[in-house]
Amino acid sequence: MQRRDAGFQSVREWDNANFLHPWEGMETLGQNDRTFTESGEGIYVTTETGRRLIDGPGGMWCVQLGYGNAEIADAMARQAREMAYFSPFNNASSVSARLAHEIAQRSPGDLNHVFFTTGGSTAVDSALRFVHFRNNVLGRPEKKIVISRHKAYHGSTYLAASVSGKERDKSWLDQAPGLAHFLPDVNPYRRPAGMSIDAFLDEKVADLENAIRAIGADKVAAFIAEPILASGGVIVPPKGYHRRCLEVCRKHDVLYISDEVVTGFGRLGHWFASEEVFDIVPDIITCAKGMTSGYVPMGACIISDRLIADVAGGNAKGATFSNGYTYSGHPVSAAAALKTIEIIEREGILEHVRKVTPLFQERMHAMRSLPIVGDTRGMGLVGCIECVTETAGTDPLATDRALGALIDTRCQELGLILRPIINMCVFSPPLVISESEIEQMFDIMEQGIRLAADDFA
Ligand code: PLP
Repeated sequence: MQRRDAGFQSVREWDNANFLHPWEGMETLGQNDRTFTESGEGIYVTTETGRRLIDGPGGMWCVQLGYGNAEIADAMARQAREMAYFSPFNNASSVSARLAHEIAQRSPGDLNHVFFTTGGSTAVDSALRFVHFRNNVLGRPEKKIVISRHKAYHGSTYLAASVSGKERDKSWLDQAPGLAHFLPDVNPYRRPAGMSIDAFLDEKVADLENAIRAIGADKVAAFIAEPILASGGVIVPPKGYHRRCLEVCRKHDVLYISDEVVTGFGRLGHWFASEEVFDIVPDIITCAKGMTSGYVPMGACIISDRLIADVAGGNAKGATFSNGYTYSGHPVSAAAALKTIEIIEREGILEHVRKVTPLFQERMHAMRSLPIVGDTRGMGLVGCIECVTETAGTDPLATDRALGALIDTRCQELGLILRPIINMCVFSPPLVISESEIEQMFDIMEQGIRLAADDFA
């Protein structure tokens, strides 16, 4: 047999020849110059060439406790040695049941039923399948449409992608026909000139209610929303937005799914942002990412007692919720998640996030005065800078220029990785970041933006 790697010299060549990445740009396939990491410690990663960089995005908004945490690694290794896998279908490993209990203890209201998945997309997928399942059991199979927002991101399975509203992601792939109805996004920065925030909020809440009325409440099953729109550009809605949307949903018997894949597990200084930050108890929460601190894949959708009661016991009509995965509640992932929860509590990480958030947000907002920066926004340890061609304006032309990538390149030269998204850069460092590391991160970012502005000029 001919060896297909003959002649390859480096990781970069193997990557270009063999590794098809998420969101692979097909035009440039095989011509990429990616950064490869070999190790990490705290907020830092070390590349294959020995460079030490701050990991601004914290992996992909997920490495809550930082890199190289020996306790999590040991817990995973112990679990793998003792009981690496057991089918969750008819039985379970005890560690998975323990985790379900610990999550239920920390989730809002009566959200006590934890359905384990393999990540965020499958959590959203399972939530949507459950919503449809419930309406079938309740004898109203027409009630299936899901309302979402432009720029929302809910994942990459067929259903999760179908309720995601990022236009550029939709252009070349199919979506589940008739599943989703999209409303405009809720970005206060891009509200019509002269409109007050209150009027903008009223308009967005009215959008939702009008859509439910127009489609018919008998056809709308759920509204899905991220507490803050993450990969759509860290869009923070006006205060009261989620509470008022929930009220509209309740009024029309429409379920509210809060997608906390990014905001869950401490990112905003609480286990879940829905109740503590946004004052809502949704019907379903989806979570993933930070659950295991990114050490191993896992996700969950957490369903309320009320919804479960509708389809359980005497109400079940013989139904089975035929949805699940070989790796639902995987014991090694569950061990990593339990250890993550233990460390977050023991080390006071939620309190730490709340304590360092003002510095983080202050330093981020200070960048608004830099050239090419139009808006800065964020919450907790999540931030975004949006670039415009003129600082004073909101020129949407800037979206067509790769300003985010330009800033990221400059910052990487200086020791910081960012996540570029078109004309934006987003960042969500590990929650264990110290105040001096926050200062260091923003010092580099400021310098990188100035250099990118010079390049752009
Ligand atoms: N939901 C939100 C809000 C996300 O940000 C993401 C991923 O970024 C997902 C769902 C999908 O999660 P995953 O990539 O783990 O499938």
